[in-house]
Parts: sequence; structure tokens; C-alpha cells
Amino acid sequence: MTDTPTPLIEVSGLHKAFGNVEVLRGIDLTVAPGTVTAILGPSGSGKTTLLRALAGLDVPDSGVIRIADANVDFGKPVKKAQLAALRGQSGFVFQSHNLFPHRTVLENVIEGPVIVQKRPRAEAVAEAEKLLASVGLADKRDLYPYQLSGGQQQRVGIVRALALKPKVILLDEPTSALDPELVGDVLTVLKDLAEQGWTLVVVTHEIRFAQQVADQVVFADGGIVLELGTPQQVLENPAHERTQQFLRRIL
Ligand code: ADP
Repeated sequence: MTDTPTPLIEVSGLHKAFGNVEVLRGIDLTVAPGTVTAILGPSGSGKTTLLRALAGLDVPDSGVIRIADANVDFGKPVKKAQLAALRGQSGFVFQSHNLFPHRTVLENVIEGPVIVQKRPRAEAVAEAEKLLASVGLADKRDLYPYQLSGGQQQRVGIVRALALKPKVILLDEPTSALDPELVGDVLTVLKDLAEQGWTLVVVTHEIRFAQQVADQVVFADGGIVLELGTPQQVLENPAHERTQQFLRRIL
């Protein structure tokens, strides 16, 4: 018998409404450490809202999120310190990188470690240089975001998340704003991170990436996890008609 590791992330009964619209209707999800979870689903199914809730950027109406030792029960009054602790567990990569336009690549990367985490600048710079080198951007450290391609900007966005040394990296459609020829570079970086043992939760429409890199695939529909399993289970033998329809449309 193999030991199942304690999940790094546990989500249960997550609900969130915007006005009258119930966007999350009881999400349950667990993520093991060192694994890649790909979240797929039609537009409007609540994927971004779920990811933002995991990041502590949106506050759900009820349900529980635990990441590592940060545990927040949204059914009770939530203290600022609890949300801050949750935020501290993850690094977030946005659909379009969100870099500071008037700061260099290096300044963008060290901002979080130095300003938020109060780490010594020299140490943050040395780590940032190593991380930039690991994604093939060593020679870009003094350039500004506008001087980079979209794919390079997104790789800086990923490095900026890694520099915080979070327990998990949350990525919201990290390749959907890129020209098709730049998608591969970013996916290669994510594949490398997976091999290095990072825990990744990725909202994506890249089925091949999900097939090749994900340990578990989540199909979200109408604010619930309709299907969850290995890529083979969910992508090749989906149990639900809704999943089959979705896959037929995007494949
Ligand atoms: P997905 O990422 O699966 O496309 P989202 O989580 O972005 O879905 O959105 C789900 C629904 O919630 C959509 O109908 C969207 O319009 C709505 N929504 C998301 N964020 C907000 C917000 N801040 N205010 C109002 N409605 C929102």
C-alpha cells in the first residue's frame, strides 16, 4: 500500500455569488503537493473566481480553503490576518502578466520579496537572476516589459510568482493572451516547474498540456466540479455528457 501524502490544498463547499448570480455552487477539491492540476471548463463556469479565491484575492461567501497551514472558514467572520496568511501561500500568474510597465524586469521580480517579504535586497537580486536564467531570460534583467515579447513577459510573470517562494503557483490561462508561436515556450517553462516539484494549479484550454503534464484534471461547469480525475479519465473517457460536449468543441 502506498501512503497518500497530506493534501497541500483542501477546498470544501465553496460558494460565491456576485449579486444574484451564483458563480461557485459548492466546489470541493484537493491538491497533493508536487502535482499539477489543470482546470478546464466553459467560459463563465467559475474557474477564475475559484483561482482568485484560492489566492485570497476574492472572498467566497461560504466554504473552507486550506493551503498548507493557512485555513480559512468563510462561513465565519474572516480576520484580515487569516486572509493575509492564505495570500502568503500562493503566487498568482495572470492571463496577461500584469508587470509594472515603468520598472525593469529585475525590479518587477524583486518587488515582492523585498517590499512585501522584507528580504534583503542582495539576496532577492541573486535569486531573481537565477530564476530569470532558468527561464532563458538572464540577459533581459535590465529591460522594460515593453521591450519583451508577450511570451517573455509572461515568463517574467511566472518568475515573479516563483520569487515569492510560495507553496503553490496559481495560473489563470497563462497562454491565452499569447500569439500561437509563443505558447510553446511558456508551456515548456511550466513543464520544467512541474519536473522540479512545484505544485501548480492552472486554468487552461491547452488540452495537450493537460494531457502531458497534469496529474489531475478538473472539469468545472456551472460553478461545481463536474468531473475530476487523471487526464486519461477526464479527457479520454469523460463520464458526463457536458464534458464530452466541451471537449468535442475545443479539440
Ligand atoms: P471562467 O473563469 O470560468 O470564465 P469566471 O469565474 O471568470 O468564469 O466568471 C464566472 C461568472 O462570474 C461570470 O458570469 C462572470 O461574469 C461573473 N463574475 C466574475 N467576476 C465578477 C465580478 N467581480 N463581479 C460580477 N460578476 C463577476
